[in-house]
Amino acid sequence: MPFTLTKASVAKSFVGLLAASALVGGCAYNEALGRNQFLLVDNAALTQAADQAWADALRTQQVSRDAAANARIRRVGDRLVQAAGLTNIRWDYAVFVEESPNAFVLPSGKIGVTTGLLALVQNDDQLAAVIGHEIGHVVAQHAAERYSSTAVTSIGLQAIQGASGDYGQAVGALGGLGAQLGVLLPFSRQHELEADQLGVDYMVRAGYRASQSIALWRLMAAQRQSQTPEFASTHPSDASRIAALEQYIRSRGYN
Ligand SMILES: [Zn+2]
Repeated sequence: MPFTLTKASVAKSFVGLLAASALVGGCAYNEALGRNQFLLVDNAALTQAADQAWADALRTQQVSRDAAANARIRRVGDRLVQAAGLTNIRWDYAVFVEESPNAFVLPSGKIGVTTGLLALVQNDDQLAAVIGHEIGHVVAQHAAERYSSTAVTSIGLQAIQGASGDYGQAVGALGGLGAQLGVLLPFSRQHELEADQLGVDYMVRAGYRASQSIALWRLMAAQRQSQTPEFASTHPSDASRIAALEQYIRSRGYN
């Protein structure tokens, strides 16, 4: 899901720290995805910036103190993380007071869900679909990939190579771009589909019902339609996304 909770101040601090992170280069095979990725940075390079953005979000946004809600996302998140064997990442969770149902993840493994989302989901399986999806974005290094490809298409590979040899230039070039790279842009359709698939893999390993991911995305689509009909009419991707997920669940023999 897109990181819609981000406010400018959060993005700004993320950008500043991101500009200072080291550049790594080249094409890497991502085992979880089964494909190669072009990465100029990786999750590790984004960790400091992501953690700073998380701290800023916790400080500047209204965080829910509802003990049951917080315990619930932690319980579901931990169960997925354990089942997926991803305990090497320091996961953290928070509930943000926000009516619109949404969730986001930072590349260092920090997951936020809104009170609106918790109100929308009908069971823990559906919540697991959301959290599993966000975990998938991290394992897939989508933020790093998006950062890398956007940097290349925006200023050219030559500029990146030049910048990486000169710290000052790197800060200038990547710092300016960072505003739209780190946390503000929605993920691409390919990234969303990959996160959906990884998410249901984790759900199944953790003993959640994969079919509830379909129910969840249908709820989200219906909610979107009722709130913003004019946008929904030009935004047909919910249906094709759900179809793709149904097809994947069938092909894997999940239920
Ligand atoms: Zn997503």
